[in-house]
Amino acid sequence: MIPFPAQYLLRFDDLCPTVSLQRWQRFLPMIEEFCPQPILAVVPDNQDPGLKLSPPDPQFWNRMRDLESAGATIGLHGYRHISSSHGRSLLPLHPTSEFAGVPENLQRQWIREGLRILRGHGLNPKIWVAPRHGLDRNTLRALQAEGIDLLSDGFARVPFARDGVTWIPQQLWEPVEKPNGLWTICVHPNTATDLQVARLHEFLSRHAEQITSVDRVLAEFPTAKLNLTERLYGTGTLWRIQASRLKKAIQHRFRKSDSD
Ligand SMILES: [Zn+2]
Repeated sequence: MIPFPAQYLLRFDDLCPTVSLQRWQRFLPMIEEFCPQPILAVVPDNQDPGLKLSPPDPQFWNRMRDLESAGATIGLHGYRHISSSHGRSLLPLHPTSEFAGVPENLQRQWIREGLRILRGHGLNPKIWVAPRHGLDRNTLRALQAEGIDLLSDGFARVPFARDGVTWIPQQLWEPVEKPNGLWTICVHPNTATDLQVARLHEFLSRHAEQITSVDRVLAEFPTAKLNLTERLYGTGTLWRIQASRLKKAIQHRFRKSDSD
């Protein structure tokens, strides 16, 4: 059943000790005020130079523990955040990813090690957040083998069961008002502009009573396979996102060749 009015779940990606501290700290007051129960997608052993933006914060893990105690759900955001595989994802939005196409035993090893690292820092990771939406059936099997049966991804308007895992959809990268449905807004603290931060703050203040949490979603929605209408909706959404990304890439290419 599609919820009315819409519900919104917040997800913050790419968190690791070298997250841009100044940029990440812009979000903390609004998390405390409007959405103390977001998904915090943490990279266990970041090796991605693109996420090394501040000196390692000695307080990082402490802060994550505090946020989890306040209600946040900790997400396992890949292992090292290195996208060197060209395997095809179940959600083909990027040509490369960390996990899709990697042999199942290696994926399982990375997931196990990632969970061990996060748990070693006193966190309780509950949900999988694939870097670059890169996941295949081997990822789903490896997750279940390591005790994780929940992920944040997909383009439906309600949570759903697929291949033994519960999917909480993630369809937005900025706040957008929707009439109904469950919408996860994915925020990248490292790259969000001040204008985007201000827009998110304004959106949350207007829709505070519609902000939900992973625990509430799991309690309120039955986990079932998607019906045909919702499967078609998801496929249509995926095509629209792919088309819009392709258009942007072509425009970027033309602008570049104009300036070459
Ligand atoms: Zn990421």
